[in-house]
Amino acid sequence: MRKTLQEQCLTELYKLDEATRNQLIAQSRNVRKYKDTSRGTTRMERKKYSKVANAVKSYNEINMNDLWKSDILKVNIPVVGETDEYTVTIKLEGVVAELQKNIKNNQNKFEFRTVIQALTKVFNTSDVWVKCTCPDFKYRFAHHLIVNNMSVDDTSNDPGPGKGIANPNDDMGRGCKHVLACLANGSWMMKVASVISNYCHYLSEKKPDAFLKLVFPKLYGVPADEAAENNIVADNEDLETGKDLIDVVNDWARNRGKFKKGSNKNPITGTGGKQKAEEPEEKPEETSEENNEPEDENEDKK
Ligand SMILES: [Zn+2]
Repeated sequence: MRKTLQEQCLTELYKLDEATRNQLIAQSRNVRKYKDTSRGTTRMERKKYSKVANAVKSYNEINMNDLWKSDILKVNIPVVGETDEYTVTIKLEGVVAELQKNIKNNQNKFEFRTVIQALTKVFNTSDVWVKCTCPDFKYRFAHHLIVNNMSVDDTSNDPGPGKGIANPNDDMGRGCKHVLACLANGSWMMKVASVISNYCHYLSEKKPDAFLKLVFPKLYGVPADEAAENNIVADNEDLETGKDLIDVVNDWARNRGKFKKGSNKNPITGTGGKQKAEEPEEKPEETSEENNEPEDENEDKK
């Protein structure tokens, strides 16, 4: 995101050590090795045994008010590790601003690809904040990431450097293998893009007032005249969000895909154009978990 000089300076002052995805990955190579190296010498190598959830319905904990009002996207990613299931959280900022640019460059058309491109751009070039629910993260990474402003959590959640906290020299990299799996392979972004896209379509059709007042201006950079004139929804009103609602949204999008194949109208802009049959949110759900192979192309760029 472009920032003014003053903003840049403030950023430098208060966010000294935040890092991009590539920096976190780079700082996780050539680190202290496991004692037992039979399944890989470092967490970067062992991350391939962690499987990242591959179904849209697993990504139903996105707070839509944070996203549309503050442009903060916090994604909970279910990961099946070698021993247990954990949740990795990744926080990104500026996805909506990027989406607005993409829509403008796409002749003001909101499409699935405008969403996935915005996510990819921010994930690849901006700062990311991470955390995981596993004990490895808690005892070896949480403290160091919090004090370096790389964690989703703030200092109120800092377990401290003291008793019970391993990794005193901070020489084990920037995350557990679950975090590294999600950083190295961004396939989960396709699912998140589907959820965001589904939510926009659902809202525009089912809750047009809230959509026009609270989401439309963020997508198109201009207020929706009708909603502003009628003042139907107050600025400070909240969007509907929550797990249950997002489940409803995703179910709705699936069924809509089934019954409205061939429909030509973009429900948001009301303009014509052929429906993109390949939009993932309209495909039937895949239930299998994918295997994150380490030879992911993104990982090897840097
Ligand atoms: Zn973990």
